[in-house]
Amino acid sequence: MAIAHNLGFPRIGRDRELKKALETYWRGEIDESELRQTGAELRAAHWQLQRDAGLDLLPVGDFAWYDGVLGHSLMVGAIPERFRDGAAEPTLDTLFAMARGVSSHCCGGPAGPASELTKWFDTNYHYLVPEFSLEQSFQLSWPQLFEEVDEARALGHRVKPVILGPLSYLWLGKAQGFDKLELLERLLPVYGQILDRLAGQGVEWVQLDEPILALDLPQAWKSAFERAYHLLQRAPLKKLVATYFGGLEDNLGLAAGLPVDGLHIDLVRAPEQFPQILDWLPAYKVLSLGVVNGRNVWRCDLDKTLQVLSQAAERLGERLWVAPSCSLLHCPVDLRREAPAEANQWLAFAVQKCEEVALLVRALAQPDAAEVRQALADNRAVLQRRASSRHIHKPEVQARLAAVEPRHSERAAPFAERIASQRERLQLPAFPTTTIGSFPQTPAIRQARQAHRQGRLSDVEYRDAMRGEIRHAVARQEALGLDVLVHGEAERNDMVEYFAEQIDGYAFTRFGWVQSYGSRCVKPAIILGDLHRPRPMTLDWIGYAQTQTDKPLKGMLTGPVTMLMWSFPREDVSAEQQARQLALAIRDEVQDLEAAGVSIIQIDEAAFREGLPLRRAGWQVYLDWAVDAFRLCSAGVSNETQIHTHMCYSEFNEIIEAIATMDADVITIETSRSQMELLEAFRAFDYPNEIGPGVYDIHSPRVPDSSEMLALLEKAIERIPAERLWVNPDCGLKTRGWAETEAALANMVSAARQLRERH
Ligand code: GLN
Ligand code: ZN
Repeated sequence: MAIAHNLGFPRIGRDRELKKALETYWRGEIDESELRQTGAELRAAHWQLQRDAGLDLLPVGDFAWYDGVLGHSLMVGAIPERFRDGAAEPTLDTLFAMARGVSSHCCGGPAGPASELTKWFDTNYHYLVPEFSLEQSFQLSWPQLFEEVDEARALGHRVKPVILGPLSYLWLGKAQGFDKLELLERLLPVYGQILDRLAGQGVEWVQLDEPILALDLPQAWKSAFERAYHLLQRAPLKKLVATYFGGLEDNLGLAAGLPVDGLHIDLVRAPEQFPQILDWLPAYKVLSLGVVNGRNVWRCDLDKTLQVLSQAAERLGERLWVAPSCSLLHCPVDLRREAPAEANQWLAFAVQKCEEVALLVRALAQPDAAEVRQALADNRAVLQRRASSRHIHKPEVQARLAAVEPRHSERAAPFAERIASQRERLQLPAFPTTTIGSFPQTPAIRQARQAHRQGRLSDVEYRDAMRGEIRHAVARQEALGLDVLVHGEAERNDMVEYFAEQIDGYAFTRFGWVQSYGSRCVKPAIILGDLHRPRPMTLDWIGYAQTQTDKPLKGMLTGPVTMLMWSFPREDVSAEQQARQLALAIRDEVQDLEAAGVSIIQIDEAAFREGLPLRRAGWQVYLDWAVDAFRLCSAGVSNETQIHTHMCYSEFNEIIEAIATMDADVITIETSRSQMELLEAFRAFDYPNEIGPGVYDIHSPRVPDSSEMLALLEKAIERIPAERLWVNPDCGLKTRGWAETEAALANMVSAARQLRERH
């Protein structure tokens, strides 16, 4: 009989218990033993949930105090020098220091800035980047995994420890000035010790995660895989190498041939790997098929999945394992926490996904059992209802999309002509100054929003409060002497959620939290069905703001690609289709703003770069539809209306052509931390439109003086013609306070003025 297992379970807790415990610990309100107690309770609860769901083999090692990669760095002793305390063993506070940084005046112990956070593959989860030095040594130094194995076994569970594999671990780290692959020989002995120790604890199977096998790998890394796993082969326990987030493609032969006992592949992202994989897999190996989507919230199509699994079971017999596609870290915990609603029957969260895996295995063994037949019939009925639901399929939306023609994605005139009309209309000085959109989200703003949500503030009272914030923001900007003003986004909780709440076809959960990093969680909206905008979304606020000033006021929207990337998307229609529906909804808003006299409209595409597929072969297809979605939402305006876009910290080199094809009149980008080097891509490409490179970093409360910003602008002028250069901060100011914001913007305006005198 096949085995039902899981690659990892969300650690944050159904009610974000871990978040709350961590934050109270950091505030000093509970001690370490209380924090550890919460961790133990969560682990016990999560194992029990998975076992009750019917899984045979449970993951251990998926729990982390802040982040799994960080925990792994501690386990192999990769602790940056600045956080080492002599020869002392690392503690939980070492771990938190690496995650959060310690200022030197604080406690006398080791201090320094936190390690960098970055996105975990193409998910919205962020991991702590390991820092490797040339003299890097590794030693087994953090017993968490072994303790948790004992803990789970004491509770009577059959467990499979999960460890990040050596190649993926090195790949994810950063090494200054040398090839990190050189560290492999030093790292492997520690893996040997880990495996020996687990074997000593009586562990039968261990899961080694090697997600980089789904990436385009340099030859040196491919060869290193063989070397590394050959060395680990002698450890006296069975090894399952887990791959996910994509297909193995050119790494298929390599992965299938590694000298280990099993391989997990992601059949949700890359269904075409089956049945091909059967031809490659040696006859002694276990094949784990990831068939339940760990990255999304939809119920699995059990009939369809069973077809694949039956075929696999016939060939593999006992050697077939069944699992979610990847760790369930990326989906919410338990659907039973939500209030009953029609849409919920279509959803499955982590607990429900474990049940699906168990049911699939059961259906293979006992297809005629009454319970199995009932469950399959239920699944069929639910999927059929969804396929014909009017909440999902909206003929008007589809008809409108079908009627879209290429001309809808074309501005009336080319940039050179448009910019002339815009300059004529806007009458801006050289090097116009502006901001990215948001101004400080003060406690007063958040309280007003909460009071409104809870009904303590009427609609009119709330509107007046927000209008007060708009007046304040506009007045401050006028006093600072900025050229293009914004309304400040006081009314927005979040740049995606705010719009999703007003677009028909989105659904929201109450407890659908997913860990983003550390104690931070997000609750992504769900794209339930066809999307459209029933009524204007921002017109009241932005229209009001425009009445408060004679200066041009920039209307602020979130773009279709970002709306899509930061939501749970549908699986029954393509990403492109969803982006186009969103584009039409935003296009309507753009046109309403234009009609209300708003002369500049910014459409933020913060997630544009991060939407790129993991493998290069997929880039062009993505860029084509992503660019077109932007053009579709923005191209309906007249030549005199100026379209801006904004992108956060991105590597633009390889996508500069696509950025140019978006054809925004102005793009503002985050560059200050790269000393304007990010502009090199724009210079080399001869990027034709206007650009606002960020001149100061909004992530820090530090107020840079104007000479610093002026120096950056001088660097920018070397790469961008002066008549096309804007002056603005790196990103929105919502996380800053007013005092530092005003001080920094005053210096920025002064830098722009000095620049005007010089050029
Ligand atoms: N307009 C948004 C803001 O200023 C942009 C945020 C972002 O780029 N992440 O907050
Ligand atoms: Zn930004």
